[in-house]
Amino acid sequence: VWNFSAGPAALPLAVLERAQREMLDWNGSGASVMEQSHRGKRFIAMAAQAEADLRELMGIPADYAVLFLQGGATQHFAQIPMNLAGAGDSADYVVSGHWSAKAASEAGSYVRVNVAASSEADGYLRLPPLDSWRLDPHAAYVHYTPNETIHGVEFHAIPDVGGTVPLVADLSSNILSEPLDVSRFGLIYAGAQKNIGPSGLVVLIIRRDLLQRAGRPMARIFRYAEHAAADSMLNTPNTWGWYVAGLTFQWLKAQGGLGTMAERNRLKAELLYQAIDGSGGYYRNPIEPSARSRMNVRFTLHDGALDAAFLQESEAAGLLALKGHKALGGMRASLYNAVPPEAVQALVAFMRDFAQRHG
Ligand code: PLP
Repeated sequence: VWNFSAGPAALPLAVLERAQREMLDWNGSGASVMEQSHRGKRFIAMAAQAEADLRELMGIPADYAVLFLQGGATQHFAQIPMNLAGAGDSADYVVSGHWSAKAASEAGSYVRVNVAASSEADGYLRLPPLDSWRLDPHAAYVHYTPNETIHGVEFHAIPDVGGTVPLVADLSSNILSEPLDVSRFGLIYAGAQKNIGPSGLVVLIIRRDLLQRAGRPMARIFRYAEHAAADSMLNTPNTWGWYVAGLTFQWLKAQGGLGTMAERNRLKAELLYQAIDGSGGYYRNPIEPSARSRMNVRFTLHDGALDAAFLQESEAAGLLALKGHKALGGMRASLYNAVPPEAVQALVAFMRDFAQRHG
């Protein structure tokens, strides 16, 4: 069975199998990792190793803190402006699809939002061209979403926003899919449920000088500086999520790191887009080619009346979760790190066969 879910998404089989093996007796402790104190030395050692592995994988510079937080990416849509913007500040938001629009709208409760660029009028079928961004040199930060999970568009280079305004990125659906120059960002955050592990966990990487910003008056639990000072154990962390994330990081290292994943991900996406484009219009992807996502590939069938049969037959063939997002219809195949090339080969073979049988 191959799982193309957009999220919570497939995890590497080796990670699930190891978690299964260790479920009842983790690390010789006689109990599950879920049943142990986060203050215990076993857990603290595991947590530190997970952070060290992530730092190594992503090449995270020492002047960045790595936090293992909770609340999903959505909570941080609000918490980022609370921490980075003071009273009267504004922040620039680039809106390129559902999630960046939501980030901008949630931020509006805590900061004056300037929509610096938007591709909404284009139906989010392309990215807002960089030369159209109306950036404010006095903004508290610039926020963008490198990969739009629902609309299937992706920035293939980090935008150069110039100046000293920190760049903030929601990497929920493409973190760890390729090497990334972390030093280009002020803050990176990602909900875990696509390329890292269980939902609820959020990995947040922040340049330490930004922890000094006063932000707004807020309870300690919302303040990133407090979480950093407490090594993400200000309160009980998502211990299970942190542990599975650590297993995923080890798996990525064993695969050869993010360079290897990038090449594998590029080839997977290429194979599927070629099958769509080469289908003589039987399947279609509406996104401008330069903006196509490697992680979330949308496609429609030439006749929507075939959708139900496509979904039923694909599931019967062991190809799961291909139904597109309800707002857009059609199909979507998510090709995160845990989806192996064989899965995409099986999908492409199924699509060809389906087209032949249904004419
Ligand atoms: N940002 C992006 C790019 C997403 O794909 C998602 C969806 O999971 C979210 C934010 C929301 O994440 P969460 O449900 O963890 O709050």
